[in-house]
Amino acid sequence: MSRKKRILSGMRPTGKLHLGHYVGALENWVALQGEYDNFHLIADYHVLTTQLDTSDIEANSFEMLKDWLAAGIDPDQSPIFRQSRIKEHAELFLLLSMLITTARLERNPTLKEQVRDMKIENMTYGHLGYPVLQAADIILYKGELVPVGEDQAPHVEIARELARRFNTTFGEVFPEPAPKLTSFARLPGLDGQTKMSKSLDNAILLSDEPDVIHGRLRKAYTDPDKLRRNDPGHPDICLVFTYHRRFNSADTGGIRSGCESGFLGCVDCKRICGEAIAGQLEPFREKRRYYDEHPGDLRTILADGEVRAQQVARETMAQVHEAMGLG
Ligand code: ATP
Ligand code: MG
Repeated sequence: MSRKKRILSGMRPTGKLHLGHYVGALENWVALQGEYDNFHLIADYHVLTTQLDTSDIEANSFEMLKDWLAAGIDPDQSPIFRQSRIKEHAELFLLLSMLITTARLERNPTLKEQVRDMKIENMTYGHLGYPVLQAADIILYKGELVPVGEDQAPHVEIARELARRFNTTFGEVFPEPAPKLTSFARLPGLDGQTKMSKSLDNAILLSDEPDVIHGRLRKAYTDPDKLRRNDPGHPDICLVFTYHRRFNSADTGGIRSGCESGFLGCVDCKRICGEAIAGQLEPFREKRRYYDEHPGDLRTILADGEVRAQQVARETMAQVHEAMGLG
């Protein structure tokens, strides 16, 4: 029997998830579950790269866990665990940090984007090392496929380089991981910015109620040339049309011709879009309600996932120690 390939992917617990997280990564985790052997980590150490206030990390971890389960992650098939509970992440991070130069890390385009968006003036050593810790997360489980959004692809490239560097220096232990992008690897935000993001306050959350979704969409940025209902619009540059393409795909022909002819106004177009999004999220909200009422189940899921993750992490580190002649 051939072994299934392993997926390792995680997210930072910074709160409830939005549509960008779903269509960029989470949707792929769910779709590939079964075909691959999935492991999913709650990257709580990674939160510390950009904030030292730890008061919300635990609550945010549970909110994110509920979103993962609501979207269809099956914890029996796919172990879910907190990074900080498996100490091998910290050890492998330390060892990998000897195998990469600071110049390589400074060239990371995702880091440059963060510095710009978050106006970071003095970066910590830990923040510079973000992708080294992420590489440790991935290769500790011998992850081969990493479903992520576009902004994370440069980090997976660094993980590949580190796996290769380890193997050529100390002996073959790690497979080289590859990223896996969806066709919406960078979903734009409601303000027309290139990325939907909680910190930019331009997001629709997976747990938003229909009236909230409609309210958020009403304020969304649209084609600036289409001011009145009868003005012809340009769907290809309209954000709302992007959302139609993803959440109302059966009807994009009608939306396009209505918009272009001027027959369909923006108010109605947004209402139809909101109904499509709310309809697709309804089963998520229902599942989330179950977990809101059964918080004990969440603790059991993590406890089980952490036992399974710990076992794999221990085995990998035994091979690392042997290859390096350490420990
Ligand atoms: P936020 O700014 O909302 O906190 P983030 O970029 O910090 O989002 P991460 O926790 O770093 O979110 O990312 C989790 C996963 O979701 C990553 O794989 C990331 O690429 C993906 N992702 C986040 N936002 C988007 C988006 N707008 N479109 C596509 N994928 C996204
Ligand atoms: Mg985040």
